Amino acid sequence: MNSKHYIQMEEKFGAHNYKPLDVVLTRGEGVWVWDVEGNKYLDFLAAYSAVNQGHCHPKIKQTMLEQVQKLTLTSRAFRNDQLGLLYKELCELTRSHKVLPMNSGAEAVETVIKAVRKWGYKVKGVPEDQAEIIVCENNFHGRTIAIIGFSSEEQYRDGFGPFAPGFKIIPFGEAAAFEKAITPNTVAFLVEPIQGEAGIIIPPDGYLREVRSICNEHNVVLILDEIQTALGRTGKLLAEEHDGIESDVTVIGKALSGGFYPISAVLSNSEVLGVFMPGDHGSTFGGNPLACAVARTALKVLIEEGMIENAAAMGDYLQSQLRKIKSDSIKEVRGKGLMIGVELRAEAGGARRFCEKLMKKGVLCKETHEHIIRFAPPLVITREQIDWAMKRVEPVLS
Ligand SMILES: *Cc1c(COP(=O)(O)O)cnc(C)c1O
Repeated sequence: MNSKHYIQMEEKFGAHNYKPLDVVLTRGEGVWVWDVEGNKYLDFLAAYSAVNQGHCHPKIKQTMLEQVQKLTLTSRAFRNDQLGLLYKELCELTRSHKVLPMNSGAEAVETVIKAVRKWGYKVKGVPEDQAEIIVCENNFHGRTIAIIGFSSEEQYRDGFGPFAPGFKIIPFGEAAAFEKAITPNTVAFLVEPIQGEAGIIIPPDGYLREVRSICNEHNVVLILDEIQTALGRTGKLLAEEHDGIESDVTVIGKALSGGFYPISAVLSNSEVLGVFMPGDHGSTFGGNPLACAVARTALKVLIEEGMIENAAAMGDYLQSQLRKIKSDSIKEVRGKGLMIGVELRAEAGGARRFCEKLMKKGVLCKETHEHIIRFAPPLVITREQIDWAMKRVEPVLS
């Protein structure tokens, strides 16, 4: 079968909730992927930062193969010999007190919403059913009903109501607006350190530090959604490190398994996750030994193989190369580490057509909204590979 047949099958039998580029991939290794016709591409999306460690990392693969032959699922009705180790390693790495594993990013965000509401009632003393959570315009926290209910993106909400109450939307990057929105019933502020899906939007310097101190002053839980920004993507293990702060609760997912298996986690101080009692919350697959074993190795290779330092160095290099492109189409290049967005001018005719041209040259990028192209390759990318890609990117963009 060739690409055309696979695409026709998808179109005929699948729901049309995505508009992928018409490339049918069958194999991957490091930064490279191959389509069913044998063409090779450099992957500049890395599954929205879920394969930071590179495609089919050999050590993660080895762990996965070993674990599937031993034990895959116990449910949390019983204990397993991987979960405690993942807890301990995650807490030590991220200076957290408690961990709760889930499967998808959205599910971990839902988990935090439950936890901070309960914290509000049991610890802060908010009257029953009055808890408020403050979120930002142009946020992206996932696709469940509760989460899209506080999205400011019309398409994410259109046709899906009614939505859950208890959320207040404020502008991103404005600490003063946050402080003004706080009431005695505010339990938490949920924010991305850099807004990824909104188009790589970086807040003003010092924003997170101000937010941190406002949260302290008003006894509000600071929740950072680092599902996309964590695990080396911005050149630090957690993006919060750029501001020298610590959240109360951090949500991670995506690269936690290096792309092998769905796993996400809530990382918390002891007070917030401490409110959960047996029976309050759960997930059949959450914390299963296969996910935990894979995540442990995915974290280990990230650190041991210097991927975080490489993301910082290669991020600077890639950004500088992109900034060198002389083009009437480019409005701005922005990013941190290997989380980079190239914003095109409105007159350039949309980012999609550039992504389609890049695909024909062997470079896979995806548009974010109308006018932004994201450059977020696996963190194992080398200077030579960036040079290879730039030879193809430059002529398309200029
Ligand atoms: C991807 C993402 C999510 C949702 O994760 P899923 O695993 O797709 O549910 C939430 N928040 C941010 C910042 C993300 O990038």
